Amino acid sequence: MQTNAERPADGRRDLRATRARGLRLSEGQSRDGIQSGRLPPEEYQRNFGDAHPPLTHHQALVESDRCLFCYAAPCVQACPTGIDIPSFIRKIATGNLKGSARDILRQNIMGAVCARVCPTEVLCEAACVRSTAEDRPVAIGALQRHATDWLFERGIQLFRRGPASGKRVAVVGGGPAGLSCAHRLAMLGHAVTVFDAREKLGGLNEYGVAAYKVAGDVAQREVEYLLGVGGIEVKLGQCLGRDLSLAQLRRDFDAVFLGIGLGAVNALGIEEPPLTGVHDAIAYIERLRQTRDLSTLPVGRRVVVVGGGMTAIDIATQTRRLGAEDVTIVYRRGAEQMSASAKEQDWAQTNGVRIKHWARPVKLHAAAGALDDVEFEYTRLDGQGRLAGTGERFTLPADMVFKAIGQVLVMDALGGHGELLDTQSGRIAVDAERRTSLPGVWAGGDCVAGGQDLTVAAVEDGKLAAQSIDRALRARA
Ligand code: SF4
Repeated sequence: MQTNAERPADGRRDLRATRARGLRLSEGQSRDGIQSGRLPPEEYQRNFGDAHPPLTHHQALVESDRCLFCYAAPCVQACPTGIDIPSFIRKIATGNLKGSARDILRQNIMGAVCARVCPTEVLCEAACVRSTAEDRPVAIGALQRHATDWLFERGIQLFRRGPASGKRVAVVGGGPAGLSCAHRLAMLGHAVTVFDAREKLGGLNEYGVAAYKVAGDVAQREVEYLLGVGGIEVKLGQCLGRDLSLAQLRRDFDAVFLGIGLGAVNALGIEEPPLTGVHDAIAYIERLRQTRDLSTLPVGRRVVVVGGGMTAIDIATQTRRLGAEDVTIVYRRGAEQMSASAKEQDWAQTNGVRIKHWARPVKLHAAAGALDDVEFEYTRLDGQGRLAGTGERFTLPADMVFKAIGQVLVMDALGGHGELLDTQSGRIAVDAERRTSLPGVWAGGDCVAGGQDLTVAAVEDGKLAAQSIDRALRARA
């Protein structure tokens, strides 16, 4: 067994080396341990402001002019919510921004946040015919943001609650799936009650996405807009399995939608002693998103992130932007297998994050009860294509290690009814209409099997479930 220590010899030399790579640094970044206030106050504002500034009106007109308004447009096929993209872009080109926003929001009521967080580079923009002709797709996401921001800034409500059906539906979880379902149900005339365990609605849009992607109050502004349709009652601080049960909801409501997301974080698969510095990436991002003064949020000088998805990119980039001097993502397979897109990986690297592939953690080393470094083993695929360790090891010094290796559904929250719900790969099994195996119960978003773990896919789940619930309730009436 071979060990390659990657510990820098001394902090000052490391600081000079980082400066030489052209990264913006402050002296606070070279302070050892987990500390707050690593950056000058004005840096936090800059680092957590809008990562991608909006298009100006002129830029939007020029960009919309690049659209070929394709017949059977491939970008529409690639959008999980089926937004009529050429139609909304044509309306921008002709100055009809209200009509453009309507095209977007009637298919995807969370189109403003999706315009910011969707991996368009692997969805609509990957399919755009301009990609092949000119190697640069139409900037669909930026145009979508332009139209929806225009609408929200003017407070124009486009949707109205349908005539009351006399039916009541419980929606558990106020994230993208639950809110999309609630909004569509309200438009169809049903009385909806949304239950959420937290203090605010929005789910991962409010608590789980990198702050610079949804700068300002866009997530809450979208929630308010959505609730503006009317007919949606909200009950916060209500946790399934603690304050309410699925059995009770099935008794009290005509239908139930579960958009409960995922609860527990996957373990590293190695011994995890209770050390200072070992963190769940989602919990830290949540704390960051709810911290008003980011100079008070402690972060390590050296940070290691284990994982290969968007959460790994988000936590790595944000800790770097909080002032961590050295941030490394370690993923057990290659760059192509990371679920974070190549664009996301580039973004992290542009922010000074290093990505190491083909390695997995084998041991957390401690000093005085705190994390000191993480030992990794290189990996490769064996003859059967299975992941195997090579025996060669290295260590990364770390004040903090973040687990960003996915989450699992906590079935306990579903009580005895959880046993009646069919599952698949540890998540709730649903059919094409998002019906579960339990009569009267639908589900969508991250908690269901076979999904893409994307906000936009969760929105589509909620919409499809609402339409299915509506059909079922009207057939029963
Ligand atoms: Fe416009 Fe590209 Fe969609 Fe064609 S594929 S309609 S050019 S955005």
